[in-house]
Amino acid sequence: MSEEKKPAIKKIQATGHMRKIMADYFYELDNAMKQGSPKIAWCTSVGPAELLLSLGFLVYYPENHGAMLGSSRQAASYIPVANAIGYSPDICSYLTSDVGAFIKKETPLSRAYEGIEGVPIPDVLVYNTNQCRDVQDWFSWYSKELNVPALGISTYRNIGNITEDHLSSIEKQIKGLIPQLEEIGGNKFDIDKFRHILGLSYDCTQLWKKVLETNKSIPAPISFFDETIHMGPAVVLRGTETAVEYYEVLLQELEERVAQKEGAVQDEKFRVYWEGMPIWGKLRDLAEFFISLRTAVIASTYCNSWIFDSFDPDDPFMSMARAYTEIFIVRDENFKELYIEKMVDMYGINGILFHDAKTCPNNSNNRYGMPERLEKKLGIPALTINGDLNDLRCYSEEQAKTNIEAFVEQLANK
Ligand code: SF4
Repeated sequence: MSEEKKPAIKKIQATGHMRKIMADYFYELDNAMKQGSPKIAWCTSVGPAELLLSLGFLVYYPENHGAMLGSSRQAASYIPVANAIGYSPDICSYLTSDVGAFIKKETPLSRAYEGIEGVPIPDVLVYNTNQCRDVQDWFSWYSKELNVPALGISTYRNIGNITEDHLSSIEKQIKGLIPQLEEIGGNKFDIDKFRHILGLSYDCTQLWKKVLETNKSIPAPISFFDETIHMGPAVVLRGTETAVEYYEVLLQELEERVAQKEGAVQDEKFRVYWEGMPIWGKLRDLAEFFISLRTAVIASTYCNSWIFDSFDPDDPFMSMARAYTEIFIVRDENFKELYIEKMVDMYGINGILFHDAKTCPNNSNNRYGMPERLEKKLGIPALTINGDLNDLRCYSEEQAKTNIEAFVEQLANK
């Protein structure tokens, strides 16, 4: 397809605002590292960030860095470096690309932000295994490499109903982190500060939810591909006023689009649910391809993963335990199936696309018969495409596009 014939992605005006707050965030971390204060904590994406912020740490998220390596298409040169020290090409390609980049002393941050030479070096690493075991292995590598402590919360996995026993164990583990974090950070825990930050995270999450739910409208104002970019502040800045203000701005823009019936896809014909990880290095390409098919990818489990409805400043520890345990990735097959069913109904979905990400079984929900069961139950087509979040060697563009075209034909025949 020639350049001039490429379907245009409609620009979101708030993007400039987002770039500015993300740049400020990375510069603040870089300055803290250079000055030795405030202390820096690395945290997994659904780890206890609010607790760390309340104890005065600046918080950095290696998974966000992994996504940057994927979207800038640099992962391929780093994954083999981690493979060479024993990390299999079959495990999380965020882990392998991030560790490989660290060994090579390179980062997309220094290309994006002048003056930043490397990732911010941590004083402590804090993980929650709610999403997968890889994060623990990932942080353990850095712990040994940098000689900093790695602390963690071990969460149950594949849960159906969440019980008080599950939650009290997680709550206890969260509280158990405090003495060590006080010692490392040099600040006393302050329950009021914790409540305040949890409240800000709650506000952020509710606004993010409203942003996603603007897509219940027909046509949908924002694509899944844009959402993956605009969820950045919900991931790295939740717990701050900055994130709350940002989502107020984004929500207003999308509500205006809804009022004007301005869709992300011109002449939207079909509405698709994306189940699984993004293919970071192909976001733009896939966004344009779906626009050319008049098909809007409008809802996803991935972007919904930063909705934490249960945060409650009046009951901060228990509500945090609940919020970080009730997320989709922690739950059993039955819960996941019912969840997607609800989404299909809520967003008026015509078909479901499962991304089987080679290096992330935790976010590849096609592997135990779910697409077939949902097709049968809901009477809508499901498609599985093979790929990966960062390792583009696992993704065949030609095959994926042929399959997507056939899938859209199926939607049309319905
Ligand atoms: S959930 Fe998947 S992508 Fe995320 S850290 Fe774990 S293995 Fe990697």
